[in-house]
Amino acid sequence: MVQCGACAGTLFGPFFRANEASISGLYLAAPVIPSEPATISLEYCKTCGLIRQVPGQTIRLNYDRIVRGTAQQLPSYTADILSTLTEFGVRPDDFILEVGANDGTFLRELRSRGYRNLLGVEPSKQLADISRESGLDIWDTYFDRRTAAEIRTTRGPARAVICRHTLEHVPDIFELTKGIAEVLSETGLSLVEVPDTDWVVTNLFAHELWDEHISYLRPRSLSKLIENCGLKPIRLERIRFRDTRNLLCWSTPAPAPAPASTTSYLVDDEASFEDLERFQGRWDAFSERLRSVVNAGPKPVVGIGASHIQLNFLNFTGLGASVDMLIDDDKSKAEHFAPLAKPTPIRSTAEILATVRSGTLLRTAFPYPDWEDRIEEALRIQGVRSIKPYDILRPLQ
Ligand SMILES: [Zn+2]
Repeated sequence: MVQCGACAGTLFGPFFRANEASISGLYLAAPVIPSEPATISLEYCKTCGLIRQVPGQTIRLNYDRIVRGTAQQLPSYTADILSTLTEFGVRPDDFILEVGANDGTFLRELRSRGYRNLLGVEPSKQLADISRESGLDIWDTYFDRRTAAEIRTTRGPARAVICRHTLEHVPDIFELTKGIAEVLSETGLSLVEVPDTDWVVTNLFAHELWDEHISYLRPRSLSKLIENCGLKPIRLERIRFRDTRNLLCWSTPAPAPAPASTTSYLVDDEASFEDLERFQGRWDAFSERLRSVVNAGPKPVVGIGASHIQLNFLNFTGLGASVDMLIDDDKSKAEHFAPLAKPTPIRSTAEILATVRSGTLLRTAFPYPDWEDRIEEALRIQGVRSIKPYDILRPLQ
């Protein structure tokens, strides 16, 4: 048994398991039959409620090579993050480190606000190069305690460490978080931002579960992890972003870890362990109902979107064999095939609107309702039926 990275607990229960034919970011140039599907298998810690991919069964990814097709977009609450840095007295010449700097979007935002002592750590060489092209200082390596020690030696301790949407991707969450604690100065401040998995459980949004996320954090498990690494959470917020919700945890160095019995949470978990145990059954019932509705409807079946959230949704519901084509305007996907239960062609919005004259439209774009509305409106005139998948869930609850 590999102990829990957040609380060192050793008791786990099953959370979710599904076949997945699609590995994120891989699209087929020819309609070849996909090889045996990978299985995504998740369990939860019965002590702190952390959800994780079952150790030894994680889907291997190499971030050295991952390049995103689209530039990262900053959420609307970026201004609040910057205000908090000011509120805690972080000055323009203070050393700020970003762990998981991606293409440098957030560092550029910091620079535009006058911060000039910045460093990013990003393991993807291509993404690191994009940042460097705009003059940012980037180390293209994985962040761990050794990297933290090297940074401390060469640049000194960090006044602030920002780590947004990175922790959930790494195999060892304790190592990364401990590295953050060790690189911080005594008066330092850290921000860790992750998706709030309670939102996924409450809404049954299994499309947000995917192979790139090894850990799924919630308020208790995130607080526990941070405390066990020698930091003290001082502000924990839940913030809505598109159709998801994020957890933002601000922390400062703590003199000594608080005894477990005295732990009080700034924000408590929303979903109980019973809710975690019910998740798979709720998902299976929803999937069965949705499949029967879709399969009884007119053909062809067209799904909106061909990125990981849509492919996960179609794989996890077992609809991968029922969908005939997908709509996506990303040039790296156009004219390719998505590896669902069968190779599924990807077409542009314009091509679909010009050619589809009957069938069923699946509103699977989730975070992009405006795009869905536009397609739905244009195809409704042609008599194409539209289904909003999670609407089918309501009578089941
Ligand atoms: Zn735990």
